[in-house]
Amino acid sequence: MFQVGWGQSTSLREWSDPQCFKLVGVRAHRFASGLTRNVLYMSEIHKFIFEGLPVRGAVVRLTDAWVEILHRRASNTTHGAYPPPVQALLGEMAAAAVLMQSNIKFNGALVVQVFGDGPVKLAVVEVQSDFSLRATATVNGALSPDASLSQMVNVGNEGRCAITLDPKDRQPGQQPYQGVVPLFGDAREKLEKFSDVLQHYMLQSEQLDTTLVLAADDKVAAGLLIQRLPMAGKGNLAGQSQASDEDQIGVNEHYKRIAMLASSLKREELLTLDVETILHRLFWEESLLRFEPLQGESGPRFACSCSRERVSRMLLSLGQAEVDSILQERDVIEVGCDFCGLQYRFDAVDAAQIFRAAHLAVPPAPLQ
Ligand SMILES: [Zn+2]
Repeated sequence: MFQVGWGQSTSLREWSDPQCFKLVGVRAHRFASGLTRNVLYMSEIHKFIFEGLPVRGAVVRLTDAWVEILHRRASNTTHGAYPPPVQALLGEMAAAAVLMQSNIKFNGALVVQVFGDGPVKLAVVEVQSDFSLRATATVNGALSPDASLSQMVNVGNEGRCAITLDPKDRQPGQQPYQGVVPLFGDAREKLEKFSDVLQHYMLQSEQLDTTLVLAADDKVAAGLLIQRLPMAGKGNLAGQSQASDEDQIGVNEHYKRIAMLASSLKREELLTLDVETILHRLFWEESLLRFEPLQGESGPRFACSCSRERVSRMLLSLGQAEVDSILQERDVIEVGCDFCGLQYRFDAVDAAQIFRAAHLAVPPAPLQ
């Protein structure tokens, strides 16, 4: 594991959201809005802590946002839909990225990337601090429908996973924080679950016990995160044990019990059950303090910065002669967004309009 960073206190752990604790004491209640309405069709994040214990958790279900990501890709006439194993990997990455972004107090983009040495060269998910997200993957060559993680991205054990925090107000020359881990375990054994890669990352890079369950299909990308909170230092639980032993990896009994419960969650359950059912099934004997779910405008949703106007400006910068020569070879210019796959199409009439509009928009020469 190696890191490039600002050399300051920049890590996911440092950014662990202290706001979490201000709501301790707010009793769980059935929220009036959202839980029953559109629950299957609106992406959502549910955060919670275990009352009096140094353990927190979150469940994310990406539904409409995830379907939009898949739809844009599937409609791309150059690339087409993701093969099923790539779809599963990218969905798990998306769920995990949203979980991590929801866990930190950070104004900027959290980017999860897998750099593969197999047929999948790159898979990227970017989640902004307002939970707008986009994702893409680059696939070269054939892939069997049941390809494993290593067969996709870690054939020669050279695959890497990078987590980047890119601040919105980054100064010129300032590098974003980035942590990188390999896709193998302590004995260089290839990891076959993406959740294992991230658990490894959280342990190695952030010294945080973390349990992740991730799953994705063609309708839902979902994840459950359970994390032990540091007892010492900023943001600890007031009034809790001072024992420093408790702050070491893998020793907290409460965390171990809750992590074991979380690990019993099956992929199918995560994909098909609503959040209330999942939390009740796993933790009915625990005392959970719930936060208002984040959904709709405040929840995860798809967003890409591409637009027809942007592509029009790009065509303008090519110049009319170049655009006309392309249009002589083919009927339509197709420009696909690298980040979401959406294709923008311009025929000769569209192109003529762009250049005419630009011509009209040229400001008149100033009067003498
Ligand atoms: Zn786009």
